[in-house]
Amino acid sequence: MAFGDKTSNLAIDHYATPSTYGFQSTAAQTKQHTDHAMLHRSLTCKPDTVSHASSIYLTLESGRTIIDACGGAAVTSIGHGNEEVHAAALSQMKRVSYVHTGAYTTTAAEDLAHIILDGNPYGLEKAFFVGSGSEAMDAALKLARQYFYEKGEKERRFLVARKQSYHGNTIGAMSVSSNLPRKIPYEPLLLPNISHVSPAYAYQYKLDFETEAQYVSRLATELDTEFHRLGPQNVIAFLAEPVVGATTGCVPAPPGYFRAVRDICTKYDILLILDEVMCGMGRTGSLFAFEQEGEGVVPDIITIGKGLGGGYAPIAGVLVHKKIVDGLRAGTGMFNHGQTYQAHPLNCATALAVQKLVKREGLVGRCKRMGVVLERMLRDKLGDKMYVGDIRGRGMFWGIEFVRGKGTKEAFEPGLEFGVRVQRKAFDLGVAVYPGSATRDGIKGDHILLAPPYIVTEGDLATIVKVVVDAYDAVEREIRTNRARI
Ligand SMILES: *Cc1c(COP(=O)(O)O)cnc(C)c1O
Repeated sequence: MAFGDKTSNLAIDHYATPSTYGFQSTAAQTKQHTDHAMLHRSLTCKPDTVSHASSIYLTLESGRTIIDACGGAAVTSIGHGNEEVHAAALSQMKRVSYVHTGAYTTTAAEDLAHIILDGNPYGLEKAFFVGSGSEAMDAALKLARQYFYEKGEKERRFLVARKQSYHGNTIGAMSVSSNLPRKIPYEPLLLPNISHVSPAYAYQYKLDFETEAQYVSRLATELDTEFHRLGPQNVIAFLAEPVVGATTGCVPAPPGYFRAVRDICTKYDILLILDEVMCGMGRTGSLFAFEQEGEGVVPDIITIGKGLGGGYAPIAGVLVHKKIVDGLRAGTGMFNHGQTYQAHPLNCATALAVQKLVKREGLVGRCKRMGVVLERMLRDKLGDKMYVGDIRGRGMFWGIEFVRGKGTKEAFEPGLEFGVRVQRKAFDLGVAVYPGSATRDGIKGDHILLAPPYIVTEGDLATIVKVVVDAYDAVEREIRTNRARI
């Protein structure tokens, strides 16, 4: 899209809303902070300083305590301030703080790979650790291309992803993403050979007369048709988030969708790359989100991130199926990609401590059980509200989509910032939630995302939901009062 054309102008006007990346702080909203050297996300709005974090609570410099009901961006899993993790990090720091992976490895990295891939679950055989979800996506894309390159299928050059998805912010990861507000300004720099098919987003896109199965079949046909347009022998991979995260707000695919997708990919030997950076590592109530898509729905490559280190370390990973590893074994025997800080010992030891704790305390199971509680509370308390269109999610990963009318599912004007307003009110009332905009189509739509740490209690959830309801009610009142002016 060029800057001059009409469609992009629409989105450009919109892309820089405060909610493009979620949070909007209430502190010093418009104060210029030229006295600070940090390039914050906003030049006009300085974020609150957090001086202390413990369990599900953040303590601000002002002394206020906030319940972290979104784990940052669905990052915090075991809660903040865990001393067992602190001790593991310190102990690793004292033993080995850094070695280059070209020549060395550490038990921290080996053990982390082992705890995730012990027994080769679903044929996943190897783990590659990097510092962020975006880097993991770039590594996954290169690995997928290298796999075919070494097999002699060098004509495979296309990647197919989905609209309304997010895969990261580096040039590669952003190219496959379609979160429009986050990518439009950089369009001329992005990679070619990438196309996007429809999202699996039943609330907005399943037609009224369609059954779920018919909707799935329509999406499957679209994917098959897209592969044929490109020539299936020219396609490297199809990419998708099993449960779409920040872009649309915790949207799982309709039943049967990933089964159909897997079958179509298998038919043409196109790789299936699942991006579980946000929804993986237990967040949806199973260690891998794809496990809930039915037997045999197994990716060739999966990326993990946020929940891996639970916020204690900047770490993400690529998990690779035996099929791909065997491909490299039969070829150069190398992965032609690397970074200075890959498998960083401190990050790996820290994430290992987090994962040990998740396992020992059965936190993934807990996440699933508490998810049932949270779902019930959200449906009971918010389901009938006039601007609540849809409540969806799994485990400790729930999205609430706001619409102008329940019947039409029409979105509010972006300028209204419905999601951000709810987030701000909730924050004022002591609960942090993650707002999103452009939910429906990259331009319009509003949601908030709830992703509490897996350790929340039923009482915590009741408090969180009560605050979200109060925040919503306040915004509803504001909007109804001002309706004539909107
Ligand atoms: C956050 C996210 C990424 C990017 O991860 P970063 O660590 O921010 O680079 C990629 N994919 C999904 C689904 C994400 O939610």
